[in-house]
Amino acid sequence: MLPEDAARRQLVERAARDILGGAGYRRIETPAFEATELFVRTIGEATDIVRKEMYTFDDGGGRSLTLRPEGTAPVCRAYLEHGMHKLPKPVKLWYLSSFFRAEAPQKGRYRQFWQIGAEAIGSDTPETDAEIVALLAELLEVIGAHQIRLRLSSLGTPETRAEYREELGRYLHANEERLSSDVRERIDLNPLRAFDSSDPATRDAMREAPVLLDRLDDADAEHFTRVRELLDDVGIRYEIDPTLVRGLDYYTRTVFEFESAALGAQSGVGGGGRYDRLMEQIGGPQTPAVGFAAGVERILMAAGEPEVEAPLVDLFVAVAAGEGSRDAWKLSRDARRAGLTAQSELAGRSLKGQLRHADRIGARYVAIVGDRTEVSLKDMESGEQRELPLAGVIGAVRGT
Ligand code: AMP
Repeated sequence: MLPEDAARRQLVERAARDILGGAGYRRIETPAFEATELFVRTIGEATDIVRKEMYTFDDGGGRSLTLRPEGTAPVCRAYLEHGMHKLPKPVKLWYLSSFFRAEAPQKGRYRQFWQIGAEAIGSDTPETDAEIVALLAELLEVIGAHQIRLRLSSLGTPETRAEYREELGRYLHANEERLSSDVRERIDLNPLRAFDSSDPATRDAMREAPVLLDRLDDADAEHFTRVRELLDDVGIRYEIDPTLVRGLDYYTRTVFEFESAALGAQSGVGGGGRYDRLMEQIGGPQTPAVGFAAGVERILMAAGEPEVEAPLVDLFVAVAAGEGSRDAWKLSRDARRAGLTAQSELAGRSLKGQLRHADRIGARYVAIVGDRTEVSLKDMESGEQRELPLAGVIGAVRGT
Protein backbone atom coordinates (compact mmCIF):
# COMPACT_ATOMS: atom_id res chain seq x y z
CA MET A 1 0.00 0.00 0.00
CA LEU A 2 1.64 3.17 -1.22
CA PRO A 3 1.07 6.57 0.42
CA GLU A 4 -1.54 7.61 -2.21
CA ASP A 5 -3.42 4.38 -1.53
CA ALA A 6 -3.23 4.96 2.20
CA ALA A 7 -4.82 8.39 1.79
CA ARG A 8 -7.64 6.87 -0.28
CA ARG A 9 -8.10 4.08 2.20
CA GLN A 10 -8.59 6.73 4.84
CA LEU A 11 -11.58 7.99 2.88
CA VAL A 12 -13.16 4.58 3.21
CA GLU A 13 -12.24 4.35 6.85
CA ARG A 14 -13.73 7.75 7.63
CA ALA A 15 -16.93 6.96 5.76
CA ALA A 16 -17.19 3.64 7.59
CA ARG A 17 -16.63 5.27 10.94
CA ASP A 18 -19.34 7.84 10.25
CA ILE A 19 -21.89 5.50 8.72
CA LEU A 20 -21.36 2.33 10.76
CA GLY A 21 -20.37 4.14 13.95
CA GLY A 22 -23.43 6.34 13.49
CA ALA A 23 -25.63 3.24 13.47
CA GLY A 24 -24.08 1.91 16.68
CA TYR A 25 -21.57 -0.54 15.21
CA ARG A 26 -18.32 -0.77 17.16
CA ARG A 27 -14.98 -1.61 15.62
CA ILE A 28 -13.33 -4.95 16.18
CA GLU A 29 -9.99 -6.36 15.03
CA THR A 30 -9.27 -10.07 15.22
CA PRO A 31 -5.85 -11.73 14.77
CA ALA A 32 -4.41 -12.19 11.26
CA PHE A 33 -4.51 -15.96 11.68
CA GLU A 34 -6.79 -18.47 13.33
CA ALA A 35 -6.98 -22.22 13.80
CA THR A 36 -7.54 -23.72 10.32
CA GLU A 37 -10.48 -25.69 11.65
CA LEU A 38 -12.48 -22.48 12.20
CA PHE A 39 -12.53 -21.70 8.49
CA VAL A 40 -12.95 -25.26 7.27
CA ARG A 41 -15.99 -25.76 9.47
CA THR A 42 -17.72 -22.50 8.67
CA ILE A 43 -16.81 -21.59 5.09
CA GLY A 44 -17.29 -25.18 3.99
CA GLU A 45 -14.99 -27.94 2.86
CA ALA A 46 -16.26 -27.93 -0.71
CA THR A 47 -15.83 -24.19 -1.30
CA ASP A 48 -13.05 -22.75 -3.47
CA ILE A 49 -11.75 -20.79 -0.51
CA VAL A 50 -11.16 -23.87 1.62
CA ARG A 51 -10.19 -26.19 -1.24
CA LYS A 52 -7.49 -24.04 -2.74
CA GLU A 53 -7.26 -20.47 -1.50
CA MET A 54 -6.16 -20.67 2.11
CA TYR A 55 -2.66 -19.92 3.33
CA THR A 56 -2.31 -22.69 5.85
CA PHE A 57 0.80 -23.48 7.85
CA ASP A 58 1.99 -25.49 10.78
CA ASP A 59 2.92 -23.31 13.75
CA GLY A 60 5.79 -25.60 14.72
CA GLY A 61 3.82 -26.99 17.63
CA GLY A 62 1.64 -29.31 15.58
CA ARG A 63 -1.22 -26.83 15.21
CA SER A 64 -2.53 -25.91 11.80
CA LEU A 65 -3.09 -22.17 11.40
CA THR A 66 -4.54 -20.21 8.49
CA LEU A 67 -4.20 -16.57 7.49
CA ARG A 68 -7.76 -15.26 7.64
CA PRO A 69 -9.48 -15.48 4.24
CA GLU A 70 -12.60 -13.72 5.56
CA GLY A 71 -13.85 -11.91 8.63
CA THR A 72 -17.14 -13.38 9.76
CA ALA A 73 -15.95 -16.63 11.33
CA PRO A 74 -13.20 -14.86 13.34
CA VAL A 75 -15.68 -12.26 14.59
CA CYS A 76 -18.05 -15.04 15.68
CA ARG A 77 -15.19 -16.83 17.40
CA ALA A 78 -14.32 -13.63 19.26
CA TYR A 79 -18.01 -13.08 20.12
CA LEU A 80 -18.19 -16.48 21.78
CA GLU A 81 -14.80 -16.37 23.43
CA HIS A 82 -15.36 -12.96 24.96
CA GLY A 83 -18.90 -13.49 26.22
CA MET A 84 -20.42 -10.86 23.96
CA HIS A 85 -23.72 -12.76 24.07
CA LYS A 86 -24.32 -10.98 27.36
CA LEU A 87 -24.49 -7.62 25.59
CA PRO A 88 -27.78 -6.12 24.38
CA LYS A 89 -28.85 -7.64 21.06
CA PRO A 90 -27.97 -7.32 18.33
CA VAL A 91 -24.28 -6.93 19.01
CA LYS A 92 -23.13 -4.65 16.19
CA LEU A 93 -19.51 -4.83 15.09
CA TRP A 94 -17.46 -3.60 12.14
CA TYR A 95 -13.95 -4.19 10.90
CA LEU A 96 -11.47 -2.91 8.37
CA SER A 97 -8.73 -5.49 8.04
CA SER A 98 -6.51 -7.29 5.59
CA PHE A 99 -7.40 -10.75 4.34
CA PHE A 100 -5.48 -13.43 2.46
CA ARG A 101 -6.46 -15.76 -0.36
CA ALA A 102 -4.12 -17.74 -2.57
CA GLU A 103 -5.66 -16.66 -5.87
CA ALA A 104 -3.95 -15.84 -9.16
CA PRO A 105 -3.40 -12.08 -8.79
CA GLN A 106 -4.95 -9.82 -11.41
CA LYS A 107 -6.59 -6.41 -11.46
CA GLY A 108 -8.97 -6.28 -8.52
CA ARG A 109 -7.85 -9.66 -7.21
CA TYR A 110 -4.95 -9.84 -4.79
CA ARG A 111 -3.48 -12.38 -2.45
CA GLN A 112 -3.62 -9.82 0.33
CA PHE A 113 -6.53 -7.41 0.20
CA TRP A 114 -8.64 -5.28 2.50
CA GLN A 115 -12.20 -5.75 3.45
CA ILE A 116 -14.58 -3.60 5.34
CA GLY A 117 -17.27 -5.58 7.06
CA ALA A 118 -20.12 -5.30 9.51
CA GLU A 119 -21.90 -7.96 11.53
CA ALA A 120 -25.14 -7.68 13.52
CA ILE A 121 -25.24 -10.65 15.86
CA GLY A 122 -28.16 -11.93 17.91
CA SER A 123 -31.21 -10.82 15.98
CA ASP A 124 -33.30 -12.67 13.38
CA THR A 125 -35.53 -9.77 12.36
CA PRO A 126 -35.77 -8.81 8.68
CA GLU A 127 -35.10 -5.24 9.81
CA THR A 128 -31.55 -6.30 10.68
CA ASP A 129 -30.99 -7.77 7.20
CA ALA A 130 -32.34 -4.60 5.63
CA GLU A 131 -30.12 -2.44 7.84
CA ILE A 132 -27.00 -4.37 6.82
CA VAL A 133 -27.84 -4.03 3.12
CA ALA A 134 -28.69 -0.35 3.54
CA LEU A 135 -25.46 0.42 5.40
CA LEU A 136 -23.33 -1.05 2.62
CA ALA A 137 -25.43 0.75 0.01
CA GLU A 138 -24.83 4.02 1.83
CA LEU A 139 -21.12 3.39 2.20
CA LEU A 140 -20.78 2.76 -1.54
CA GLU A 141 -22.81 5.87 -2.30
CA VAL A 142 -20.82 8.14 0.01
CA ILE A 143 -17.50 6.93 -1.40
CA GLY A 144 -18.87 7.44 -4.90
CA ALA A 145 -18.78 3.92 -6.35
CA HIS A 146 -20.20 3.99 -9.89
CA GLN A 147 -22.65 1.78 -11.74
CA ILE A 148 -23.67 -0.23 -8.75
CA ARG A 149 -26.14 -3.08 -9.05
CA LEU A 150 -27.55 -4.99 -6.09
CA ARG A 151 -28.57 -8.61 -6.44
CA LEU A 152 -30.69 -10.15 -3.72
CA SER A 153 -31.93 -13.62 -2.91
CA SER A 154 -32.78 -15.97 -0.09
CA LEU A 155 -31.18 -19.34 0.57
CA GLY A 156 -33.77 -20.48 3.12
CA THR A 157 -32.78 -22.88 5.88
CA PRO A 158 -30.15 -25.61 5.63
CA GLU A 159 -32.97 -28.20 5.56
CA THR A 160 -34.76 -26.62 2.60
CA ARG A 161 -31.41 -26.22 0.99
CA ALA A 162 -30.46 -29.86 1.51
CA GLU A 163 -33.69 -31.01 -0.15
CA TYR A 164 -33.18 -28.53 -2.93
CA ARG A 165 -29.56 -29.63 -3.42
CA GLU A 166 -30.78 -33.15 -4.00
CA GLU A 167 -33.38 -31.97 -6.46
CA LEU A 168 -30.77 -29.86 -8.25
CA GLY A 169 -28.29 -32.75 -8.18
CA ARG A 170 -30.88 -34.98 -9.85
CA TYR A 171 -31.45 -32.32 -12.48
CA LEU A 172 -27.71 -31.92 -13.09
CA HIS A 173 -27.14 -35.67 -13.38
CA ALA A 174 -30.02 -35.90 -15.83
CA ASN A 175 -28.36 -33.19 -17.90
CA GLU A 176 -24.73 -34.16 -17.46
CA GLU A 177 -23.88 -34.09 -21.14
CA ARG A 178 -24.72 -30.37 -21.27
CA LEU A 179 -22.40 -29.43 -18.40
CA SER A 180 -18.74 -28.41 -18.40
CA SER A 181 -16.38 -30.98 -16.93
CA ASP A 182 -15.63 -28.71 -13.99
CA VAL A 183 -19.31 -28.47 -13.06
CA ARG A 184 -19.88 -32.17 -13.72
CA GLU A 185 -17.12 -33.11 -11.30
CA ARG A 186 -18.69 -31.05 -8.57
CA ILE A 187 -22.32 -32.13 -8.90
CA ASP A 188 -22.27 -34.07 -5.66
CA LEU A 189 -19.77 -31.83 -3.91
CA ASN A 190 -21.41 -28.47 -4.54
CA PRO A 191 -24.21 -28.45 -7.13
CA LEU A 192 -25.14 -24.81 -6.40
CA ARG A 193 -21.91 -23.61 -7.94
CA ALA A 194 -23.22 -24.76 -11.32
CA PHE A 195 -25.12 -21.46 -11.47
CA ASP A 196 -21.77 -19.64 -11.31
CA SER A 197 -20.37 -21.27 -14.45
CA SER A 198 -19.38 -19.07 -17.36
CA ASP A 199 -19.50 -22.00 -19.82
CA PRO A 200 -22.26 -21.23 -22.41
CA ALA A 201 -23.68 -24.76 -22.63
CA THR A 202 -23.78 -25.05 -18.84
CA ARG A 203 -25.45 -21.67 -18.56
CA ASP A 204 -28.02 -22.82 -21.06
CA ALA A 205 -28.74 -25.95 -19.06
CA MET A 206 -29.01 -23.92 -15.86
CA ARG A 207 -31.74 -21.70 -17.29
CA GLU A 208 -34.25 -24.52 -16.85
CA ALA A 209 -32.86 -25.76 -13.55
CA PRO A 210 -35.07 -25.65 -10.45
CA VAL A 211 -34.40 -22.59 -8.26
CA LEU A 212 -34.20 -22.52 -4.50
CA LEU A 213 -36.26 -19.36 -4.21
CA ASP A 214 -39.31 -21.35 -5.36
CA ARG A 215 -38.74 -23.93 -2.63
CA LEU A 216 -38.55 -21.70 0.46
CA ASP A 217 -40.76 -22.62 3.41
CA ASP A 218 -43.40 -20.14 4.55
CA ALA A 219 -41.38 -18.52 7.34
CA ASP A 220 -38.37 -17.96 5.07
CA ALA A 221 -40.52 -16.67 2.23
CA GLU A 222 -42.20 -14.22 4.61
CA HIS A 223 -38.84 -13.07 5.97
CA PHE A 224 -37.62 -12.44 2.45
CA THR A 225 -40.77 -10.51 1.49
CA ARG A 226 -40.35 -8.30 4.53
CA VAL A 227 -36.67 -7.59 3.73
CA ARG A 228 -37.72 -6.54 0.23
CA GLU A 229 -40.46 -4.27 1.57
CA LEU A 230 -38.03 -2.59 3.94
CA LEU A 231 -35.56 -1.95 1.11
CA ASP A 232 -38.42 -0.62 -1.03
CA ASP A 233 -39.39 1.73 1.82
CA VAL A 234 -36.04 3.49 1.65
CA GLY A 235 -35.72 3.41 -2.13
CA ILE A 236 -32.88 0.89 -2.36
CA ARG A 237 -33.13 -0.75 -5.75
CA TYR A 238 -32.30 -4.41 -6.16
CA GLU A 239 -32.77 -7.28 -8.55
CA ILE A 240 -33.99 -10.61 -7.33
CA ASP A 241 -31.52 -13.19 -8.54
CA PRO A 242 -32.58 -16.72 -7.61
CA THR A 243 -29.26 -18.07 -8.84
CA LEU A 244 -27.21 -15.95 -6.49
CA VAL A 245 -24.84 -18.24 -4.63
CA ARG A 246 -22.02 -17.00 -2.53
CA GLY A 247 -18.63 -18.61 -2.24
CA LEU A 248 -19.14 -19.45 1.42
CA ASP A 249 -21.41 -22.17 2.78
CA TYR A 250 -22.58 -20.58 6.00
CA TYR A 251 -25.36 -18.39 4.64
CA THR A 252 -29.04 -18.88 5.48
CA ARG A 253 -32.02 -16.82 4.29
CA THR A 254 -30.98 -13.43 2.87
CA VAL A 255 -27.94 -13.18 0.60
CA PHE A 256 -26.92 -10.17 -1.46
CA GLU A 257 -24.15 -8.91 -3.64
CA PHE A 258 -23.24 -5.45 -4.89
CA GLU A 259 -21.50 -5.33 -8.24
CA SER A 260 -20.10 -2.49 -10.28
CA ALA A 261 -20.15 -2.50 -14.07
CA ALA A 262 -17.18 -0.11 -13.82
CA LEU A 263 -14.98 -2.99 -12.67
CA GLY A 264 -14.70 -5.44 -15.54
CA ALA A 265 -14.19 -9.12 -14.79
CA GLN A 266 -13.86 -8.84 -11.01
CA SER A 267 -17.16 -7.02 -10.62
CA GLY A 268 -18.05 -7.99 -7.05
CA VAL A 269 -17.72 -5.01 -4.75
CA GLY A 270 -19.18 -6.53 -1.65
CA GLY A 271 -21.83 -8.81 -0.37
CA GLY A 272 -23.08 -10.77 2.54
CA GLY A 273 -26.10 -12.28 4.11
CA ARG A 274 -27.60 -13.99 7.09
CA TYR A 275 -25.78 -16.81 8.84
CA ASP A 276 -28.12 -18.12 11.53
CA ARG A 277 -26.31 -21.43 12.05
CA LEU A 278 -22.68 -20.37 12.01
CA MET A 279 -22.39 -19.79 15.74
CA GLU A 280 -23.57 -23.34 16.45
CA GLN A 281 -21.09 -24.73 13.95
CA ILE A 282 -18.29 -23.37 16.09
CA GLY A 283 -19.70 -24.64 19.33
CA GLY A 284 -21.83 -21.71 20.47
CA PRO A 285 -25.52 -21.42 21.22
CA GLN A 286 -27.98 -20.85 18.39
CA THR A 287 -27.43 -17.19 17.47
CA PRO A 288 -28.95 -15.58 14.39
CA ALA A 289 -26.76 -13.00 12.65
CA VAL A 290 -26.31 -11.09 9.44
CA GLY A 291 -23.39 -9.18 7.92
CA PHE A 292 -21.59 -7.81 4.91
CA ALA A 293 -18.02 -7.68 3.63
CA ALA A 294 -16.80 -5.41 0.87
CA GLY A 295 -13.41 -5.17 -0.82
CA VAL A 296 -11.75 -1.84 -0.13
CA GLU A 297 -9.60 -1.95 -3.31
CA ARG A 298 -12.69 -2.76 -5.37
CA ILE A 299 -14.77 0.04 -3.78
CA LEU A 300 -12.02 2.53 -4.61
CA MET A 301 -11.69 1.18 -8.15
CA ALA A 302 -15.45 1.46 -8.63
CA ALA A 303 -15.21 5.04 -7.37
CA GLY A 304 -12.56 5.79 -10.03
CA GLU A 305 -9.67 6.03 -7.53
CA PRO A 306 -10.91 9.32 -6.03
CA GLU A 307 -8.44 12.20 -5.78
CA VAL A 308 -7.41 12.89 -2.25
CA GLU A 309 -6.18 16.28 -1.19
CA ALA A 310 -2.60 16.54 -0.02
CA PRO A 311 -2.43 17.06 3.72
CA LEU A 312 -2.35 20.65 4.84
CA VAL A 313 1.03 22.02 5.95
CA ASP A 314 0.49 25.07 8.15
CA LEU A 315 4.13 25.92 8.59
CA PHE A 316 7.48 25.10 7.04
CA VAL A 317 10.45 26.22 9.09
CA ALA A 318 13.38 27.17 6.87
CA VAL A 319 16.91 27.88 8.01
CA ALA A 320 18.87 30.81 6.61
CA ALA A 321 22.27 29.62 5.40
CA GLY A 322 22.95 27.02 8.05
CA GLU A 323 22.24 29.34 10.96
CA GLY A 324 19.45 29.01 13.47
CA SER A 325 18.93 25.32 12.86
CA ARG A 326 18.43 24.58 16.56
CA ASP A 327 15.79 27.29 16.83
CA ALA A 328 14.15 25.91 13.70
CA TRP A 329 14.10 22.39 15.12
CA LYS A 330 12.48 23.65 18.33
CA LEU A 331 10.02 25.87 16.50
CA SER A 332 8.64 23.10 14.29
CA ARG A 333 8.27 20.80 17.28
CA ASP A 334 6.53 23.46 19.38
CA ALA A 335 4.26 24.29 16.44
CA ARG A 336 3.12 20.66 16.19
CA ARG A 337 2.55 20.47 19.91
CA ALA A 338 0.41 23.59 19.60
CA GLY A 339 -1.79 21.77 17.09
CA LEU A 340 -0.34 23.03 13.79
CA THR A 341 0.99 20.79 11.04
CA ALA A 342 4.63 21.77 10.69
CA GLN A 343 7.79 20.52 9.05
CA SER A 344 11.36 21.73 9.17
CA GLU A 345 14.21 21.41 6.72
CA LEU A 346 15.85 17.99 6.91
CA ALA A 347 17.82 17.81 3.68
CA GLY A 348 20.33 20.64 4.00
CA ARG A 349 18.95 22.63 1.04
CA SER A 350 19.90 26.23 0.27
CA LEU A 351 17.37 28.84 1.42
CA LYS A 352 16.12 29.13 -2.16
CA GLY A 353 15.76 25.34 -2.34
CA GLN A 354 13.89 25.32 0.96
CA LEU A 355 11.41 27.92 -0.27
CA ARG A 356 10.84 25.92 -3.44
CA HIS A 357 10.31 22.79 -1.37
CA ALA A 358 7.87 24.60 0.95
CA ASP A 359 5.91 25.68 -2.10
CA ARG A 360 5.85 22.14 -3.49
CA ILE A 361 4.44 20.65 -0.28
CA GLY A 362 1.82 23.40 -0.18
CA ALA A 363 2.95 25.09 3.06
CA ARG A 364 0.72 28.02 4.02
CA TYR A 365 3.54 29.81 5.84
CA VAL A 366 7.29 29.66 5.87
CA ALA A 367 9.26 30.90 8.86
CA ILE A 368 12.86 31.73 7.98
CA VAL A 369 14.97 31.34 11.07
CA GLY A 370 18.46 32.87 11.17
CA ASP A 371 20.84 33.93 13.91
CA ARG A 372 18.81 37.02 14.81
CA THR A 373 16.01 37.04 17.36
CA GLU A 374 13.67 38.17 14.58
CA VAL A 375 12.18 35.64 12.21
CA SER A 376 10.76 36.32 8.73
CA LEU A 377 7.30 34.85 8.29
CA LYS A 378 6.20 34.50 4.69
CA ASP A 379 2.58 34.03 3.71
CA MET A 380 2.98 31.69 0.72
CA GLU A 381 -0.38 32.59 -0.78
CA SER A 382 -0.04 36.37 -0.81
CA GLY A 383 3.75 36.43 -0.86
CA GLU A 384 3.70 38.94 2.00
CA GLN A 385 6.60 38.74 4.39
CA ARG A 386 6.96 40.25 7.83
CA GLU A 387 9.46 40.23 10.67
CA LEU A 388 8.46 39.08 14.12
CA PRO A 389 10.04 37.60 17.23
CA LEU A 390 10.62 33.82 17.22
CA ALA A 391 8.18 33.42 20.12
CA GLY A 392 5.40 35.07 18.10
CA VAL A 393 5.45 32.75 15.07
CA ILE A 394 3.08 30.06 16.32
CA GLY A 395 0.53 32.60 17.52
CA ALA A 396 0.71 34.44 14.19
CA VAL A 397 0.10 31.26 12.15
CA ARG A 398 -2.65 30.07 14.47
CA GLY A 399 -4.33 33.44 14.32
CA THR A 400 -4.86 33.15 10.57
P1 AMP B 1 -16.31 -12.64 -0.32
O1 AMP B 1 -15.92 -12.83 1.10
O2 AMP B 1 -15.67 -13.62 -1.25
O3 AMP B 1 -17.77 -12.48 -0.53
O4 AMP B 1 -15.66 -11.26 -0.75
C1 AMP B 1 -16.23 -10.03 -0.39
C2 AMP B 1 -15.60 -8.93 -1.20
O5 AMP B 1 -14.20 -8.88 -0.93
C3 AMP B 1 -15.69 -9.13 -2.69
O6 AMP B 1 -16.89 -8.61 -3.18
C4 AMP B 1 -14.51 -8.33 -3.18
O7 AMP B 1 -14.83 -6.95 -3.23
C5 AMP B 1 -13.49 -8.52 -2.09
N1 AMP B 1 -12.52 -9.57 -2.43
C6 AMP B 1 -12.64 -10.91 -2.30
N2 AMP B 1 -11.53 -11.55 -2.69
C7 AMP B 1 -10.66 -10.60 -3.10
C8 AMP B 1 -9.32 -10.61 -3.62
N3 AMP B 1 -8.64 -11.73 -3.79
N4 AMP B 1 -8.75 -9.41 -3.94
C9 AMP B 1 -9.42 -8.25 -3.76
N5 AMP B 1 -10.67 -8.18 -3.27
C10 AMP B 1 -11.29 -9.34 -2.95
